[in-house]
Amino acid sequence: MTSRRSFIQIVPIAGALALCARGALAANDVVVDEKDPQAAALGYVADAAKADKAKFAKFAPGQNCAGCQLYQTRPGSATAPCPIFGGKLVAGKGWCSAWAKRA
Ligand code: SF4
Repeated sequence: MTSRRSFIQIVPIAGALALCARGALAANDVVVDEKDPQAAALGYVADAAKADKAKFAKFAPGQNCAGCQLYQTRPGSATAPCPIFGGKLVAGKGWCSAWAKRA
């Protein structure tokens, strides 16, 4: 009886942990869509060369996500999570108006 009770208590906990892990992976695998309202508001583009220089005058050639303080580099990957977008992936060649020079 005791082992059955233990099993019944463990199964929901294991399931919840599996769902949490799966959710975390899913969030990290989502690529930011330029048309997403937040991305549009920040002027995010996957190719910095396409940044709206008229709207975002602070943009300067050479700025891109890979050179941004917030870019959470993943070795060997062209994309990485960005906390501005809740951990969704942005392109290393991308840019948004929250760009801050990597120290
Ligand atoms: Fe790219 Fe930095 Fe903007 Fe994130 S905050 S999208 S890393 S420029």
